[in-house]
Amino acid sequence: MNLVLLGPPGAGKGTQAERISALYGVPHISTGDIFRDNLKRGTVLGRRAKEYMDRGELVPDEVVIGIVRDRLAKPDCEKGFILDGFPRTAAQADALKAMLADLGKAIDHVLNVQVPEEAVVERLTARRTCRSCGKVYHLVFDPPAKEDTCDACGGELYCRDDDKEETVRARLREYEDKTSPLIAYYEGEGLLRNINGAAEMDEVLRAIRDIIEA
Ligand code: ADP
Ligand code: ADP
Ligand code: ZN
Repeated sequence: MNLVLLGPPGAGKGTQAERISALYGVPHISTGDIFRDNLKRGTVLGRRAKEYMDRGELVPDEVVIGIVRDRLAKPDCEKGFILDGFPRTAAQADALKAMLADLGKAIDHVLNVQVPEEAVVERLTARRTCRSCGKVYHLVFDPPAKEDTCDACGGELYCRDDDKEETVRARLREYEDKTSPLIAYYEGEGLLRNINGAAEMDEVLRAIRDIIEA
């Protein structure tokens, strides 16, 4: 089960990837999570990515592609993988195709999670992320039991710097310019499956399961 989750920031890719990963036992690979983890650990990669992330811009292709190539070669990807937030450019999509071919693999489905722009802004500005385990909440749609505290690990919840409205707008422009052309790219490959991401979380998951199990 080799899946790619495509969609604007805030579409619900990470939320759904976590659920699919738990249900089917395949790893959730989020390039954004990898960068934030590196940032937390103070690595060179983390510092390099931060300058782009803070501006709401994409990290250069050559940086991201190498990370994903290493990650997909790990043994836990044998049964499959869920890519969340990669590819985000045509060059990344070409590189993904080539690296999967080298591994004797191919993408099964590209799930295009569609949500209107205003809904996405509302989701991101009220998104809260756990500093310790990375779990994601929403102040209104998926609130934690105790304000500012992660239900899963007791960690502190914070608002990502790039979830402030100004940076959100910049990220949406990056998405339109560089990532949205991948919709046509994957349609051409016969891999695109459109998902109504504006529905409730459980309903979105059901639509994804229907596609996986069809
Ligand atoms: P992405 O990974 O695509 O950026 P997330 O999964 O982090 O998106 O979701 C963005 C925010 O919206 C989070 O706060 C999440 O709790 C919330 N969210 C996710 N899916 C839904 C949904 N179907 N309805 C309402 N809120 C949602
Ligand atoms: P979201 O879940 O809201 O879509 P991510 O956590 O996926 O956000 O990404 C956060 C930031 O990390 C992006 O704005 C970008 O700077 C960087 N990033 C993540 N994935 C990629 C990628 N595939 N290519 C380039 N930059 C990326
Ligand atoms: Zn936590």
